[in-house]
Amino acid sequence: MAQNANKGSAVYDSSFDAHSPKQLTLMSELHHAIENRELELFYQPKISVLDNRVLGAEALVRWNHPKYGLLYPDQFIPLMERSRLIQGLTMWVIQEGFAQCAEWHQADLEVALSINLSAKDLNNPELPDLISGIKGAVGINPAWITLEITESSIMTDPDAAMAIIHRIHDMGFQFSIDDYGTGYSSLSYLKRLPLKELKIDRSFVADILRDESDALIVNATINLAHNLGLEVTAEGVEDMETLALLKQEGCDLAQGFCLGKPMPQAEFVQWCQERV
Ligand code: C2E
Ligand code: CA
Ligand code: CA
Ligand code: CA
Repeated sequence: MAQNANKGSAVYDSSFDAHSPKQLTLMSELHHAIENRELELFYQPKISVLDNRVLGAEALVRWNHPKYGLLYPDQFIPLMERSRLIQGLTMWVIQEGFAQCAEWHQADLEVALSINLSAKDLNNPELPDLISGIKGAVGINPAWITLEITESSIMTDPDAAMAIIHRIHDMGFQFSIDDYGTGYSSLSYLKRLPLKELKIDRSFVADILRDESDALIVNATINLAHNLGLEVTAEGVEDMETLALLKQEGCDLAQGFCLGKPMPQAEFVQWCQERV
């Protein structure tokens, strides 16, 4: 699947080998990870470039493995994406994320939540009903939730994906293109999708201060997104100089280690409260 070709996120472990004994063990244990409550969502703040307010968070899954310790998604998501296990993980993330976001809003913490979907989710005709069920059970306002999809995950079966995306959008959920620029897609699909946001992959953002062509790509992407009526988020902002340049270019939102790392839920709430 082309989706993993450029994850750009192999900061922790780039040596992924599906046939290693460790990976095979993990695969067999995934079934129990959810039941045993070993999965945990971390939340990374999304900041308004204009005034530094926290507008949202992205849910990023972690696995507290009893033997291997804290595992990052690059160590188990690609594996799960090869089977339908990923659909179970996605439903867990949605259930947990919706509940958490509803709780924040009840406590007057008004942050939106972004959740990552995989290619297999966009080929699952049951996804809209599953999401609708959780929405009703949790009582969440779908306007607070953005679902992140990648260009490659749409392109595996564009017609099926398009239909599923529109059904979920009709319920009031928002959509975002993640890792923009790393996958294959066409502008005609971009135009036909009910998008709210485009996220520039951090492989383009990281070097904009030093690399002229990266700076040009980021500038062009911001203009393209704005011309299509979309918000732009820059990923992987690691220093304040980069943030300043993004502000100059008119970028709307930013995510990155210099603004806020992914944090466990309690820490994220405290972090938000300390900022105001
Ligand atoms: P992503 O969706 O592109 O998420 C952003 C990744 O960049 C996260 O890695 C985040 O920790 C990292 N990051 C954020 N700011 C910076 C920065 O300033 N510098 C650098 N170098 N990295 C930064 P993480 O949490 O390891 O997640 C990796 C990937 O795993 C995600 O990439 C996403 O594709 C996938 N993933 C994570 N959680 C889920 C999930 O619940 N479901 C699915 N399907 N995929 C997930
Ligand atoms: Ca990425
Ligand atoms: Ca994402
Ligand atoms: Ca991304």
